[in-house]
Amino acid sequence: MQVYKFGGASVKDAEGVRNVARIVEQSKDQPLLIVVSAMGKTTNLLEKLTKAYFNQEPEAVSYFEEAKRFHEEILNQLFEDTSHPIFDQVANLFVEIDWIIEEEPQDTYDYLFDQIVSIGELVSSRIIEAYLGISGLPSQWIDARNYIHTDNNFREANVNWEKTAESIHASIPALLGKSILVTQGFIGSTSENFTTTLGREGSDYTAAIFASCLNADLVTIWKDVPGVLNADPKWFDATELIPELSYLDAIELTYYGATVIHPKTIKPLQNKGITLAVRSFVDLNQHGTIIKKTNTTLPVSSFIFKVNQVLISILPKDFSFIVEDNFSHIFNVFAKHKLKINMMHNSAVSFSVSVDYDEKNIVSLIKELKQQYDVEFKRDLELVTIRHYNAQTIARVLINKEVIMQLQDNYTCQMLIQPVK
Ligand code: ASP
Ligand code: MG
Repeated sequence: MQVYKFGGASVKDAEGVRNVARIVEQSKDQPLLIVVSAMGKTTNLLEKLTKAYFNQEPEAVSYFEEAKRFHEEILNQLFEDTSHPIFDQVANLFVEIDWIIEEEPQDTYDYLFDQIVSIGELVSSRIIEAYLGISGLPSQWIDARNYIHTDNNFREANVNWEKTAESIHASIPALLGKSILVTQGFIGSTSENFTTTLGREGSDYTAAIFASCLNADLVTIWKDVPGVLNADPKWFDATELIPELSYLDAIELTYYGATVIHPKTIKPLQNKGITLAVRSFVDLNQHGTIIKKTNTTLPVSSFIFKVNQVLISILPKDFSFIVEDNFSHIFNVFAKHKLKINMMHNSAVSFSVSVDYDEKNIVSLIKELKQQYDVEFKRDLELVTIRHYNAQTIARVLINKEVIMQLQDNYTCQMLIQPVK
């Protein structure tokens, strides 16, 4: 069987949904499970809605209207028959947000985020499944929350693999092949049946979870880029497609922040030896990138950029050495405030890290660290990682930049940089 994953960009409008149906039409003779993200920028919009509602700002209502309008327009373009049940199904999903926001918030932000933002995936999967139906493709909508079981770490939930595999084995194999199964990426549920999310851009991970539990032959992530490139075209003009990539290089690239695939996606596939294809939903003649067990090394230097970085330097108040005890305490504080360390460096009397700027979490982190250490920080930095670097590639990214912190080993060079003033 195969698993296809369609991200938000592939279903950003009615034409995108029609294109999904065309792609699925070509593969309809094999057992297929489709994992979809929210349409276009819906997740960002629902995130803004959640923030505004949580802070009791009036914009919450206009964001909500915008989300409904956006989906209504797509529905109107796809379904001529206005009595099709999809119109009610979508309206009913949005009513769930209505119920939440008409009362004052009582729950934590992370919990509310998951209950509200997950509606994006529920709506898009309903629309896509219904559209496959009217296109003559036998399909069935599946609620991922009945299969992806997680803990209650809202917004970044951890998957209970045993329970998840059990649920998937119990019913999905019998459905596969009879119709095309359509489910949501990114979402799961707790043992009390509360909706959770797996972390931003987590739909790839969902595809890998289903693929792993079903021993899929192939997972395909359909993207708006031709495959895995050696740099994000957002930052570089001349990018190159990497036709074949080892699991190890793929893990390393995503670990350092290549956004083409969610970092948690590779491990479950590697464990089962499942090949992952990353290819264009625009140009179906291109094969894109194949990620599999191979000894091929990365053919070109690859660049990963992360903007909006903060350097946080932690120094013991009494000039004592940074020792193991301090490290475990410091790592725990970062985990508690949900900040992921992108780069770290330690010396005898200081420990420095670079993290993504997230105002709320950083303020609370620094407050806690300051009880025990002196803390300094510096904003508006960029982190560049070059895998298979050389002198030219380093020089290329340092044009008009100065280096704040640099680390390198045989394969990888990481530099925290800022524009020269
Ligand atoms: N819709 C979610 C997000 O944008 C999940 C995903 O796209 O993978 O983060
Ligand atoms: Mg997305």
